[in-house]
Formats: sequence, structure tokens, C-alpha cells
Amino acid sequence: MILRLVLGDQLNAGHSWWREQRDDVLYVMMEIRSETDYAHHHAQKVLALFACMRGFAAAIEAAGHQVRYFRIGDADNGQSFAANLRQVAHSVGATRFERMEADEWRVEQALDAAAAECGLAQTVVGSEHFLVDRSELKTAFAHAVPRMEYFYRDLRQRFGILLANGGEPEGGKWNYDVDNRAKWPGSPAAPAWRWPAHDLSDLWHEIVAAGVVTMGDANEGQVRWPLTRREARAGLAQFVREALPHFGRYQDALTSRSLALFHSLLSFSLNVKMLHPLEVIRAALGAYRRGAVSLESTEGFIRQILGWREFVRGVYWARMPGYGQENALRAVRPLPGWYWSGNTGMACLAHAIGQSLKHAYAHHIQRLMVTGNFALLAGCDPDEVDAWYLGIYVDAFEWVEMPNTRGMSQFADGGVVGSKPYCGAASYISKQGDYCKGCAYDPKRRHGERACPFNSLYWHFHDRHRALLSGNPRLKMPYQLWEKLGAEERHATLQQAEVYLADLDAL
Ligand code: FAD
Ligand code: SF4
Repeated sequence: MILRLVLGDQLNAGHSWWREQRDDVLYVMMEIRSETDYAHHHAQKVLALFACMRGFAAAIEAAGHQVRYFRIGDADNGQSFAANLRQVAHSVGATRFERMEADEWRVEQALDAAAAECGLAQTVVGSEHFLVDRSELKTAFAHAVPRMEYFYRDLRQRFGILLANGGEPEGGKWNYDVDNRAKWPGSPAAPAWRWPAHDLSDLWHEIVAAGVVTMGDANEGQVRWPLTRREARAGLAQFVREALPHFGRYQDALTSRSLALFHSLLSFSLNVKMLHPLEVIRAALGAYRRGAVSLESTEGFIRQILGWREFVRGVYWARMPGYGQENALRAVRPLPGWYWSGNTGMACLAHAIGQSLKHAYAHHIQRLMVTGNFALLAGCDPDEVDAWYLGIYVDAFEWVEMPNTRGMSQFADGGVVGSKPYCGAASYISKQGDYCKGCAYDPKRRHGERACPFNSLYWHFHDRHRALLSGNPRLKMPYQLWEKLGAEERHATLQQAEVYLADLDAL
């Protein structure tokens, strides 16, 4: 007998494993405490994952495959890969163990150890999900990490995506980012959330009874994420129809009037592999070819999946395990307590964090330019920032979370993911959206009463990292502006930042 393991983020219905039914193969799936407890996960993330896994197990069983499924509360659940594999191997007399590549370093290590511990001969196959193989990534990222833009252009050419004759980019440009930066005026209306609430209250009781500790709003087990491939595909179709036409233009917008604006909400379905990246890209291309979507929106969206998603995975596998300890800016401050409550007077943070706690979702600009931006400017410890992002979002798996958080957002890798820190003062947040209206702080003030903390912290950040950052040609402008402010203004701004930094919890 051969045991084949299917992890919660390997729900790929297109995998070649499912093409043949074999009497000598037993598929093993497990809900285990070692996976619920390695991070402090959002309740809806645990609920959605377990519900998807249960649905997937039922579907493969109905298709004629043999399945051994461990539920979180089962009395015989050993709560770790090794304990459950040993038990199943013993009960069916298995000597061989096959698994797909795990996407996370931690899980790869745990599974290698489990196979060895159980005395099982192990074979590892690909997950048949990503567009670039891990072995190829190793070579491409071995000496130096390429810039995302060039990595993305290569993939456009390799897969023949948005190319005109002769391999040139369609429309003459590779990148339409500059056309994709508008503030959302409130119309066109943002589409409704894609999925109805699923009643997972029984599952929630099982999770709680098993002692799993979560964060965020469990919403009494009512979860509005797709739980099957069919639902994920319906969400993709709705996105292409209703949101993609406006995705590009408003992709950097911030607002308190919509949770997702014109973003796709597809990261969870992609990361658990219910959707394949190429099918998502093809759906967008199809709408473009029909004339339903502009080139700017189509390119802007495809860049996220073909470019960023594959790229950050390359960074992760090239730099792990050391990546998880990188802290180029030597940031050590604890993350303020209000990251777990949303209870702050800063309207932008209160909204982005509040929404994340409630729905386990925030779109990219909320993650990067609101919550991430603040943690970066305040010098918060990247370990704490990483742990927060890994727990709170429904789509958070370390291979994609860590390069985005530690790399793109916190610059803890010293410039591997981004060539400069992604940060901004209140002028950025105010230009991109409506958060500043009605905020307790004044976005125009650097210091003094009600001065927006983003302003003084922005300059304090540049001032304290002058030795590392001032030589970066992309930061010439902020350093010139800082000098132009004059000694008195600089002093008052730094003083204000010191006051805020002394008690971040009070903000
Ligand atoms: P859309 O804006 O509609 O984008 C479409 C798809 O492109 C996404 O579903 C996603 O699969 C992909 N994508 C977009 N941006 C990125 C990116 N920077 N890296 C990788 N893929 C991308 N994404 C995760 O999937 N998991 C995470 O744990 C995660 N953590 C993040 C942490 C920080 C600090 C930041 C700044 C970004 C993080 N991202 C993460 C990337 C991005 O914010 C999310 O993928 C996106 O917000 C998910 O929402 P959406 O599906 O509506 O995305
Ligand atoms: Fe955020 Fe400052 Fe604007 Fe308030 S004033 S919403 S804290 S950027």
C-alpha cells in the first residue's frame, strides 16, 4: 500500500494523481494541531480551510479514490503529520509514502522528518500548480534575485501573454502602472462580495472543542469564502464581469466604503489551489479579447499573478531558511496592541485592521500602505509583523506572506523584493482615498496638535536610516525635501515622532 498525503493547500482537482484510481493507494488528509498552532490564525481561515478540505476529501472519495481523513476532534487524531502517518501506515501495512512538494519550508522539513520517523520510503512530486518549477526557480534565483519586472517580462514571453507580433508587448508597453493609480470617487459602484455565507457553525464547535485558539471574528461560523472549486470558478466569473473592467484604474485606491473595491478576492482560492493561475489569467485575457476590459486593467491584473505571485515564491525558496531572520533595518519595537483590536484613533489603521479582523481580508494597498507602512515607519520587529500577517489573512501561507511582509513591506531583506522601501506619509494615504476625512488626526500637520503620526514617522524613518538609504537613487527626492525643510522644522518633526514612538499604543 502507498500512502499519498494531500495538504490543506493542495486541493488541486487537476493534479495527475486524480487521473487513475488505484487499489494500492490510500489518500491521507488531516486537520492537525501542529498546523492550527504554528501561527495565531484568523478563525475564518481555519474554518474555510477545514471546510474546503472536507469537501475535497468527499469529492475524491465519490470519484472512487480511497481516503483516510482525520478530523480535528477525532479521538484517534495524533495531531501531527508523523503521528497520523505512523498510525495509518501501521493499520494498512504501508511502506511507501508519496507527497506533493509543500510550499512552505516548515512543512517540507516536518514531512521529511515524519517520513524518516515512520520508516517510509518517500517520493516527492510537483504540486502541478505554479507556472515556474521549484527546480527552475533555484537556478534562476541562485546568484542574484532578478527584479520582478524582468522576471515578469520573461514569463509573458514564455507563455505568450499579451504579446504583439515579434514578442513585443501588446500596446507597446510592458507596464501600465502609471495609468492605474486613481482615487475611487464612489462610482462606478464596487461589486458585491462574491459568495454567500456558508453555515459552518458545527465545524466551528468542533474547532473550539478541540482547543484551537484563533484570532478575529468567527462570525458564529458563518463564512463567506468559496469552499469548492465550483464556487471559486463562479467568483472568478463574477470578478471578470463586474470588477476587472475597473481593476486597473482603482487598484491603488483606499476607501472606507468598500472592503475589496475592484480587487478579485481570489487569493484564497488560488493559494489552496482550487483555481489554477493560468485559468485565472486566461479568464482575464478572454474578457480583454472580447473588448470587455481595457489593456491597462488586464495587464495590471495579470502582472499580479504571473509576475508578483510567481516572483515572491522564487524569493522565498531562494532565501529560506535564513530569510525568516532577516532584519536589515534592525527594527525591534513591539507591534502596538491595537493591531489586534483596531482600536486606534488613526482612521486608516482602524478601518484596515478592523476589516481584517472581521473578514480575514484586506486588499493589497491596505496591507502595504496602511498596516505595513505604519509598522515600517515605526520600526516594528519584522518577526512580530510577519506573525500578524501570517495569522490574520485567509490567504496567508508563508511562501507568499513572508516575502510580501518581510521583503516588500518591511524592507527587512535590505532590498531583495523591492529596490526601495514602500512607504508614504499622510499625503499618500489622503491622495489615494477617503480615510483622512473625519480622522482624529490632521493629514497636513507634521507636528503639533493632532499632527498625523504618518508624517513625523515618515521623516524620522528617513532620518534614522540615512546611512543605509540616502545613497539609493530612488530616494534622492525625499532626502532633498527633508533638507529643504530647514533645521527648525526638522527638529520639531523629529521631536514629534519621538513623542509618538514613546507610546505607540496611545495613538
Ligand atoms: P488582487 O488584487 O485581486 O490580485 C489578484 C491576485 O494576484 C491575488 O489573488 C494574488 O494571488 C495575486 N497577487 C497580487 N499581489 C500579490 C503579491 N504582492 N504577491 C503575491 N501574489 C499577489 N498575498 C497572499 O496571497 N497571501 C499573503 O499572505 C499575502 N500577504 C501579504 C502581506 C503584505 C504585507 C502585503 C503587502 C501583501 C500580501 N499579499 C499576500 C499580496 C496581496 O496583498 C494579496 O495577494 C491580495 O491582497 C489578495 O487579494 P485579492 O485576491 O483581492 O488580490
Ligand atoms: Fe491615517 Fe493620518 Fe489620514 Fe488619519 S490623517 S487617516 S492617521 S493618514
